[in-house]
Amino acid sequence: MNKKYSVLLADLDNTLLDFSASERIAISRLLEHYGGATEKALIDYPSYNDSLWKRLEKGEITRDQLVKTRFAGFFKRHGINGDGGEAAFLYQKYLSESAIWMDGAEELLLKCRGKIKVYVISNGIATVQLPRVRSSGIDKLTDGHFISEIIGYNKPDIRYFEAVSGKIPGFDRDKTLVLGDSLTADIAGGKAFGCDTCLFDKDGKYNVTENIKPYLLIRKLSELYKILDI
Ligand SMILES: [Mg+2]
Repeated sequence: MNKKYSVLLADLDNTLLDFSASERIAISRLLEHYGGATEKALIDYPSYNDSLWKRLEKGEITRDQLVKTRFAGFFKRHGINGDGGEAAFLYQKYLSESAIWMDGAEELLLKCRGKIKVYVISNGIATVQLPRVRSSGIDKLTDGHFISEIIGYNKPDIRYFEAVSGKIPGFDRDKTLVLGDSLTADIAGGKAFGCDTCLFDKDGKYNVTENIKPYLLIRKLSELYKILDI
């Protein structure tokens, strides 16, 4: 029997790699550098950062603005003395040095080898993402990776998916599954491009009243073995 899918487009952060864990390590190292990490600042950073990325997805700010002004704004909120530009450089360096697998992600990629093509689709900064793709070994376990900064567009922009599909030999959107943890980036983008989508909802946060509906929903990456027939 023919497999339904021949290509898996897999998001990187919080799908294959535990970005939240790397982010905690990097922000903690950064705050140490500027005189100590307060509990309040450590807890606040992820949601502060997420709000900026949501604005980027909506096209309200550019990636350049996000990267350059992120820490100036954050330091102001928490009364920390430090140069925002220097902090941005240090933070990205710390982040690039940390790659931690999500549960079951390495096993999934190993199982996919020789059975289905896997390409990484990531909204991110090349100098952060490329070292993580390499140090984790994801570059060796997949068929390619497409970082949005290099592509020139971010998910969910359909132009990101058009550019990616143009780089995949024999790409067929009807035989492609888009996997990711973000409704607004991965699922919205994959759907707009006309692919089946699979939301990786590790913590069971998805609410059926959301107006973006994934085609499939999984709580564990091992649920993909059956879906992908691997
Ligand atoms: Mg993600």
